Amino acid sequence: MDVYGLLGNPVGHSLSPPMHEAAYDELALEARYVTFEPAPDELEAAIRGAGALGIRGLNVTIPFKRDVLEFVEPDELASRIGAANTIDFSGAEPTGHNTDAAGALRALRDHGVALEGADALVVGAGGAGRAISFGLADAGAAVTIANRTASTARELAAEVPGADGRGLEDLEDAVDDADVLVNATSVGMEEDATPVPSEVLHGELAVLDAVYRPLETRLLRDAAAAGATTVDGAWMLLYQGVEAFELWTDRTAPVDEMNEALRSRL
Ligand code: NAP
Repeated sequence: MDVYGLLGNPVGHSLSPPMHEAAYDELALEARYVTFEPAPDELEAAIRGAGALGIRGLNVTIPFKRDVLEFVEPDELASRIGAANTIDFSGAEPTGHNTDAAGALRALRDHGVALEGADALVVGAGGAGRAISFGLADAGAAVTIANRTASTARELAAEVPGADGRGLEDLEDAVDDADVLVNATSVGMEEDATPVPSEVLHGELAVLDAVYRPLETRLLRDAAAAGATTVDGAWMLLYQGVEAFELWTDRTAPVDEMNEALRSRL
């Protein structure tokens, strides 16, 4: 029996267990996906213990995505992002990876959105904003990062090749120029609010909202009304899980079954 899991605190509402177990069922893998809630000062012990116990892989969520880098060997992308959401125990040392970036890119591409040469506006410069900004720049997009705390956006933009950083005010021109708009703030999560005023949205945009509770956020409703392509946060959640599954198992993930397991619970 292979054991995989999630490290976070809290992890009670996580959709990762049913999503991964749907993949194990579909491929008839003898595996389980378990959630763990170590205390913050037990993170190192949890990772060492997981390795010692033969756990094959762990996802990592709030509040450990950054701190975990102290205890794993990050790959180049996780190192640049400064956070890992996936640990692989197949080598001599546990390695850290960031599949949030690839998850967002796959979600967009899956909806026919071209990224190379696109102008992308990422709203938010926290963990998700960092991962998505580096991912989009690597995919060949010109990235603008807009954040409530403008200094954080400017600091992040200084790390992301070719990016600009700014505050959230006067977004009209930035949205007008954009082909891709990503909400990487928590605005819209379990509330009917949006970080981008509806009147600046337009029909040439592809809009990805990282928020997945609710699935249809106010931003996505406004974007659909403006004629934009919309991509909800469950697609990003799905593909970060797909990427982790494929990294751990070297198998092609059964995306449809994982998607069904996820969406039936949202
Ligand atoms: P985080 O590191 O705490 O960052 C939060 C971001 O939201 C910051 O940019 C913050 O701006 C901004 N923000 C918070 N409240 C705001 C407000 N009232 N107005 C404007 N901006 C505000 O969180 P995170 O880990 O990046 O997560 C952000 C969202 O992405 C969450 O909803 C999370 O569930 C979602 N997410 C989804 C996936 C997925 O797979 N779909 C993966 C990761 C995260 P300041 O810097 O000014 O505070």
